[in-house]
Amino acid sequence: MLAGGTLYSSCEPCIMCSFVITQVGITRVVFAARGTDIPTYKPLLGADLEVAAAWVNSQRDWAPLEIVGGFMRERALRAISTFPWSEAENRDVIDTSQ
Ligand SMILES: [Zn+2]
Repeated sequence: MLAGGTLYSSCEPCIMCSFVITQVGITRVVFAARGTDIPTYKPLLGADLEVAAAWVNSQRDWAPLEIVGGFMRERALRAISTFPWSEAENRDVIDTSQ
């Protein structure tokens, strides 16, 4: 049962996930890092969940969507900083065991 629920995420959901969030009726999203905190992030249509939520909330027949961004963001930024981003761009297989 997802309708009316809260989704917690370490990172801002992308535009594809955001669409699914609205379609299953999740009404609150709490996330840590912003999509733009990811070094290789390329936002489709400049996607920003708060902008998308403002649009959703202006629709009469869509469930309202509350966004809480930046929750524990500093901790998420520390985790992001340890990921091998340069390897991720140049390799088919990423070794994260190190
Ligand atoms: Zn996504």
